Amino acid sequence: MGDVVLQTATINWLRSLLGKEARFSFVTSKEFSSLLDTHPEVSHVISFDRRKGEKWGELVNKIEELDNREPIDLILDLHATLRSFRLKLSFWTTPSLTVDKRRWERFFLTKVKNVRLKRLFDKKFFGLEPQVERILKDFESIFMDIRAKRRTVDFRHGPHEEMTSLSELPVYPIAGAYIVLAPSASFLYKRWPVGYFVELAQKLLSETDFHLVVLAGPDDKFCEAFSEISSERFHNLQGKTSLKESMSILAHARICIGNDSGMNHIAEAYGVPCLTIFGPTDPRFGFAPHGSKSRYLSKEMFCKPCSTTGKTPCYRDRHYCMEEISVDEVRKVTHEILGSL
Ligand code: SF4
Repeated sequence: MGDVVLQTATINWLRSLLGKEARFSFVTSKEFSSLLDTHPEVSHVISFDRRKGEKWGELVNKIEELDNREPIDLILDLHATLRSFRLKLSFWTTPSLTVDKRRWERFFLTKVKNVRLKRLFDKKFFGLEPQVERILKDFESIFMDIRAKRRTVDFRHGPHEEMTSLSELPVYPIAGAYIVLAPSASFLYKRWPVGYFVELAQKLLSETDFHLVVLAGPDDKFCEAFSEISSERFHNLQGKTSLKESMSILAHARICIGNDSGMNHIAEAYGVPCLTIFGPTDPRFGFAPHGSKSRYLSKEMFCKPCSTTGKTPCYRDRHYCMEEISVDEVRKVTHEILGSL
């Protein structure tokens, strides 16, 4: 989900480069299509429903239909996976460009087990540049080569401005100003312990006047841990909102506190400051929040990052990378962000 949100920067940039005549179609999984179907710059969202057993050929047919109606000039592979490679093969006569996801650099960083060496490596290859800016730089050099054209609008405004027109979103009724807690993540080890989120929620309820809203998907049953909180200002919406409703809630939040996950990227897309908690992944991968008031917390340790996606099970006796980020640290940074608003 986060990847899809971040690519809205590429769409916005391409629009500024190619002008209003260009039309963009976006291919993504069905579960993420609602992120983009109201995006003002996207003409078509072609979705692929793997969970419901949609066949690969059906996806190819949908793209072929589009190609017959409006011939595709260029395929931009923003995912650089085996699947997207296969898709490009199906349309091998159409020119294509593929982003460099810096997989080797990320992989290498997961293999180095010395903190000083990691820092050296960081300076040489990463420099904490956001992933979206890296992709745009790559595309910029390619486009300048093949089109001899410079981009006309500087990429200064933060990457996801006006991702989706808010007027098209349902407004979820929550009376009063609120903070969003997003305790889920695509993989188990990317989650800050739910008990810590519960403690944080209790403290923020007693220290501030804000409402607290928990956003998580229908499968995130671990959110039952929040049932011990009884406050009129606490709303556990796990499994109760559609993706669009969650987007609407995020768009109007004061802050979003969450893991290295899509919810924080969506919040930032609406200009909402985030506090992102990094565990087995690393801000150097390029997915740290970039907003001027956003912050992140990440502990430096020899074993971290242990995988490029956070998917690999923890091999240590405890989940140190997350457990060592204390509730009080998160609480303190939350108050600092609130004080800066
Ligand atoms: S503690 Fe180390 S090994 Fe375990 S998940 Fe975190 S980074 Fe990976």
